[in-house]
Amino acid sequence: MSLTIGVDIGGTKVGGGLVDENGQVLATARRPTPADDTPGVIQAVKEVVEDLREGRDIEAVGIGAAGWISSDRSTVMLAPNLSWKDEPLRDKVSEAVGLPVVVENDANVAIWGEHKYGAAKGVRSSVLYTVGTGIGGGIVVKDNLLRGTNGVAAEIGHTRSVMPDGRTCGCGRTGCLEQYASGRALTQAARDGAKADPDQAQILLKLAGGDPEAITGRQVTESAKQGDEVALAAFDFIGYYLGNSAADMVQLIDPGVIIIAGGVIDAGDLLLDPIRKHYTEALSSRATLPVAEVKAATLGSKAGVIGAADLARHRTGL
Ligand SMILES: [Zn+2]
Repeated sequence: MSLTIGVDIGGTKVGGGLVDENGQVLATARRPTPADDTPGVIQAVKEVVEDLREGRDIEAVGIGAAGWISSDRSTVMLAPNLSWKDEPLRDKVSEAVGLPVVVENDANVAIWGEHKYGAAKGVRSSVLYTVGTGIGGGIVVKDNLLRGTNGVAAEIGHTRSVMPDGRTCGCGRTGCLEQYASGRALTQAARDGAKADPDQAQILLKLAGGDPEAITGRQVTESAKQGDEVALAAFDFIGYYLGNSAADMVQLIDPGVIIIAGGVIDAGDLLLDPIRKHYTEALSSRATLPVAEVKAATLGSKAGVIGAADLARHRTGL
């Protein structure tokens, strides 16, 4: 049996999985992410790998991290959430654990997991959006990750085609998709709606203790399930931008499937229905051409670990 380990370095936790060649996660381990402490993060990765290793013969370790990864998959060029700049993560982890290591962007490992074993299995070209606090993007074209010249392709969250010159983004530009279609944007839309029209937000405001500023993403989902008009409008708001962005991806990539992943997809059809509605409207002129189905991811939070482990297994030739 061929075993590799996938590790997902997130803002709050370092999660790992022992994965076989069929994409099955045989064991998991986790540690908290020590914020602003690079040696601490390396140590956490090492501990996760050692927990999972337990004397077994491991081929390699794959790591997914939010940030820009160099084209040779060795260095995290920039990771704002971890305060990393030009961090030679591959070599540091490889030295710490004594195994070959591959580093890849977190959304790229997620789409790779879905491509090999999940919602895009059997589809050669696909696009993935992770809708969480921000928006990550991954693109697979003809069974290859689209990594670009410098390793930083598929940053769909920072495309501006749906609203150039709009809200200021953390990346320093304005109008990025992430500012209109992320979990944070969903919550903001619900807060704005509840302030403007409290009568239509009674369920939502009740859950939030009457304070629009206290509304959380989970409450938006819960009250939308109960029919709260403002909460439903907030899903329609982000669905509009995601649907139009996905339609642009059809024009650009012509994928076989478009996958929605990340924490907000826990809302299921509350998120998928508005995306599909606006996506279909945006592509209505192409009525006679086949277009990609918009689907929810199927591997959930395991996608990154499974994808990273698989990239580690097939590290040669990439
Ligand atoms: Zn941006």
